[in-house]
Amino acid sequence: MIRTVDVPALVAEARAGTSRAVGRLISLVDDQHPALPEAMAALAPHTGGAHVVGLTGAPGVGKSTTTNALVRALREQDQRVAVLAVDPSSPFSGGALLGDRIRMNESASDPGVYIRSLASRGHLGGLSVATPQAIRVLDAAGFDTILVETVGVGQSEVEIAGAADTTLVLLAPGMGDGIQAAKAGILEIGDVFVVNKADREGADSTVRDLRHMIQLGEGLTPGGWRRPVVKAAALDGTGVDEVVDAIARHLDWLATSGVLRQRRTARARDEITALVIARLRARMGDLGSGGTLQTLAAQVVDGASDPYAAAEELLTTLGV
Ligand code: GDP
Repeated sequence: MIRTVDVPALVAEARAGTSRAVGRLISLVDDQHPALPEAMAALAPHTGGAHVVGLTGAPGVGKSTTTNALVRALREQDQRVAVLAVDPSSPFSGGALLGDRIRMNESASDPGVYIRSLASRGHLGGLSVATPQAIRVLDAAGFDTILVETVGVGQSEVEIAGAADTTLVLLAPGMGDGIQAAKAGILEIGDVFVVNKADREGADSTVRDLRHMIQLGEGLTPGGWRRPVVKAAALDGTGVDEVVDAIARHLDWLATSGVLRQRRTARARDEITALVIARLRARMGDLGSGGTLQTLAAQVVDGASDPYAAAEELLTTLGV
């Protein structure tokens, strides 16, 4: 049964800083609830104020530890901080994962911090639709910085990182050196690189390798921003202030160069496209179960139609 939702009240509460209301709005996203379009419309005028920072890197590199350290540092600057932990591979959402994270996180009782997990629970359009929507909720709720932490560095993680204004790529000595970074395609997506676990042997050579590779690739990136490589040890807080500083400098650059607007427009374009594709796919599914697709497929097999003609017919049926 679908609950009715008082969207205006929920949005007002979320904007007044009530975590529970923020949580309920993100649950609408998670469920792709019928009230979601109304919620998105109500949130829209209040968005655009948050700095969205994506964190990505191989499992074990220290993303959670770094996220926690960044939360602490940003809280010291009196920022309100939200953390969205996105796991494209996990079929579970909220629940256990979230519980674990909250237990791990000393910020759980701090009203200036909001932490939430999002997982691909097989909803329409998956995380490419849900992640930007959850970011919109947090943005409209007035968080200054939204940290989007993704698990792994596969294609979907790169896409999710694309939802950020600033992308932080984490590496650690010995496990994710420069060459591996290049292979994983994360050199292109990083705005700020962090070599974490600087207390470990090999950190300096990883930094050197990375700087070298970034210089080689510099001509390929849109000019103006020199992508810094920051050495840090998130576990004891070393270098975390430098990471925070690099993030802030990147935001300044984004704003003054006009790239911020470009990126956000590209992001909105992707979001609209993902929604259209999800809708089309759902309606295709309806047609499939209604037998239209099956009938067309049989005609193609019989030589009575061809895939192009069948596709045209289907698009006409869909009203496209
Ligand atoms: P994630 O999988 O990328 O989120 O990585 P985690 O944050 O869970 O960290 C993986 C492991 O590395 C944990 O055991 C952390 O305690 C450890 N770790 C994180 N940061 C550092 C660091 O700066 N130095 C060292 N030596 N270990 C770290």
